[in-house]
Amino acid sequence: SSHGSPNAAGPKARKKARLSLTSASPSKTSIEEQRKQLPIASGKDALMKQIRENDVTVLIGETGSGKTTQVPQYLLESGIAGKGTIAVTQPRRVAATSLAARVATEQNVSVGSLVGYSVRFNEAYSDDTRIKYVTDGMLVRELLGDPLLSRYSVVIVDEAHERTLRTDLLIANLKTIQKKRNAPSDAKGKGSAAKLNPLKIIIMSATLDADKFSSFYNGAKILYVQGRQHPVMIYHAAVSQSDYVDAAMRTFFQIHTDRPPGDVLIFLPGQEDIESLDKAIKLYANRLPKDSMGVLVCLMYAALPPAQQSKIFAPAPSGMRKCILATNIAETSITIPGIKYVIDTGKCKEKRYVARDSGAGFDTLLTRDITKSSAMQRAGRAGREGSGFCFRLYTEDAYNAMPTSAEPEIRRCTLTSSLLQLKCLGQDLEELDFMDKPDQETIASALKTLYLLGALDNKKTLTKLGREMASFPLEPNLARAVVASKEFGCTSEILDIISVLSSSSKLFFDTTDEREAAAEARRKFRHRSGDHMTVLNVVRAYAEVAAAEGKGARRDWCRRQYLNDRCLVEAMDIRAQLRTVCERTQIDWRVSCGDDEQPVLRSLVRGLVQHAAFLQPDGSYKQVMGPSVVKIHPGSSLCDKKVPAIIYDELIYTSHIYARGVSAIPRSYIGEVPVLNRKSN
Ligand code: ADP
Ligand code: MG
Repeated sequence: SSHGSPNAAGPKARKKARLSLTSASPSKTSIEEQRKQLPIASGKDALMKQIRENDVTVLIGETGSGKTTQVPQYLLESGIAGKGTIAVTQPRRVAATSLAARVATEQNVSVGSLVGYSVRFNEAYSDDTRIKYVTDGMLVRELLGDPLLSRYSVVIVDEAHERTLRTDLLIANLKTIQKKRNAPSDAKGKGSAAKLNPLKIIIMSATLDADKFSSFYNGAKILYVQGRQHPVMIYHAAVSQSDYVDAAMRTFFQIHTDRPPGDVLIFLPGQEDIESLDKAIKLYANRLPKDSMGVLVCLMYAALPPAQQSKIFAPAPSGMRKCILATNIAETSITIPGIKYVIDTGKCKEKRYVARDSGAGFDTLLTRDITKSSAMQRAGRAGREGSGFCFRLYTEDAYNAMPTSAEPEIRRCTLTSSLLQLKCLGQDLEELDFMDKPDQETIASALKTLYLLGALDNKKTLTKLGREMASFPLEPNLARAVVASKEFGCTSEILDIISVLSSSSKLFFDTTDEREAAAEARRKFRHRSGDHMTVLNVVRAYAEVAAAEGKGARRDWCRRQYLNDRCLVEAMDIRAQLRTVCERTQIDWRVSCGDDEQPVLRSLVRGLVQHAAFLQPDGSYKQVMGPSVVKIHPGSSLCDKKVPAIIYDELIYTSHIYARGVSAIPRSYIGEVPVLNRKSN
């Protein structure tokens, strides 16, 4: 059988597999061959020797050299990991799940046994798991229950060059954890405390700026894996291209008609652009002459369902050219074989904190120009297996004007959720030893938010409520609404709504072709109080269909209602996870308020207190806790309505400031928020 128990990877099973090499299992042979041919394989012994001798190792190597998939397996095989688990962190969920799948295949086990993963709202591991791919955020979350990460003998911080907020938090915490766990035994052996197992830290990165990591860890050893990079010919656009999706399509068909076989990888900023380019390429591919090579389009972005992720690794059928449309996930975290041509739009999406004069800041995703470092990585993807070509859809001057590398997230994102987690660990953002220190202003804004949510008291001390909120894998404002729902008796409703808000794709498509029909179909879900209760109506209708009918019927139903089935499927997973957390924290998620929207809105106000606005005489809405004047988003069910007060999920900055995900509330609900109450008393 191809799927074994974890024991199948033990010595006995492996011997059997080797004996049968000639007769059966050709894929197994080729996987072992593939592993041996990776650049990292030849340096294996030297690498393990260094890691064995050093507490911290910084490992630098070209993308695709085998760092992420091989190093954990080497550590396991060489015994360096001892009896503990090896954690490998990734900034992105898709990378963690897809790498776990690959390594499980290499070990000839099923995912969740010897090799597993754990990402927000989704996990597959067991007591047998020895190699665990996790998002950096999940490992930070694990600190709350296991402050010394004692089940791990090795923590590999991968893709460290991306410098996500969670990676930086982890790097800071690992330093103190290691100091405790690796202290000489006479220093820690006093008293009855059990001997702590030592921790090894490996920092891995695809870019060369390793000195910063090394010096943070007191001059840790830096090792380099010799890559196998072939030359890549780079072309720049002669003039700048404003419509990069259209330019990408034209460039693709030029390659397709003029150049020899070889797959194409196109870098785009996000899912929407990927989907529209997908449509455009398929449309034109159908018009190609019958005798020309076929085009197989594959997509890769964060919200892509796992079942479709493996498609990008399969070679294109003969006579077909594979064209992969990806976000910067394909820059360094996932290596796709067979790429000869890269088209680089020069754009990416970046989370950025927007500070407001009031101090009530928040994160928005902005499409922006990439850095030189990204541009180089993207071009490099064309030269993995032979010489390649990179077509940049921007001018050489634009390239020269790019910043060298990105600013670490800790310098540009909200810190609210991290601050809350650190408070639970008894730590303070201001005091922690970081590679780069966060801004004072951003810290102040996070403190203010947590105070308004009731997670901190006026002495900045964590409250019981704050600790309760931190147990939910949600942004603090949504976690606050869940905790409030206990008080108002509507946890069932709040979980339904919040699951949809936490899904990585949108519930309602922005249909341009059939706007009328879509609006008509949606009308029956509409609730007079606005978008949150409308979402609840959709979830309730969906749950009925899902309970009564099969998967196909459910998908059909979604299509007829112009709803995104993928969003609802994911939301149901998230809801299941949130229910588990509720059970752990003694919140009864079955409690429902029936058809009364008031408890639901009251709970939401507790969390969205900073996202409230009052109607002004001129018909616009002014923030209660901020200076901005906002309009209700055209996509909202409350668009053009005049109600005394609103709460909203987020603000969108275009020609106006739009509030999206809006509900009407009585003004008095704002005054009921405990913190504000206290002030007026
Ligand atoms: P690095 O971390 O150094 O960038 P990896 O360990 O991620 O390198 O990749 C090593 C090799 O494994 C690459 O050739 C890549 O194509 C292959 N690989 C990774 N994931 C998969 C997968 N899901 N299916 C097939 N091959 C994969
Ligand atoms: Mg890697």
